[in-house]
Amino acid sequence: MTMIPCRACKAEKPEDEFHRHTNTKNGRHPSCKECRKGERRAAYAEKRDTERTQMRAYYEANGDVIRQRSVEDKRRRRQDPAYV
Ligand SMILES: [Zn+2]
Repeated sequence: MTMIPCRACKAEKPEDEFHRHTNTKNGRHPSCKECRKGERRAAYAEKRDTERTQMRAYYEANGDVIRQRSVEDKRRRRQDPAYV
């Protein structure tokens, strides 16, 4: 079994601890699976926070319009069942 040093955690791990990757010399990803998992999670958390911040900013800027629209929508739906 070939051992590969992980670029991220610097530990030497067997090559099956690395995802396959076509653009590298040894055909394996430079970071091990554990590190890739951590990277993905961090990227996801960051993205989620950004989206939440953007949603809040949007709602703060347009909250009155959004509330007004949903009130009108409800009223309209009650009066006209065919309205979607
Ligand atoms: Zn690693």
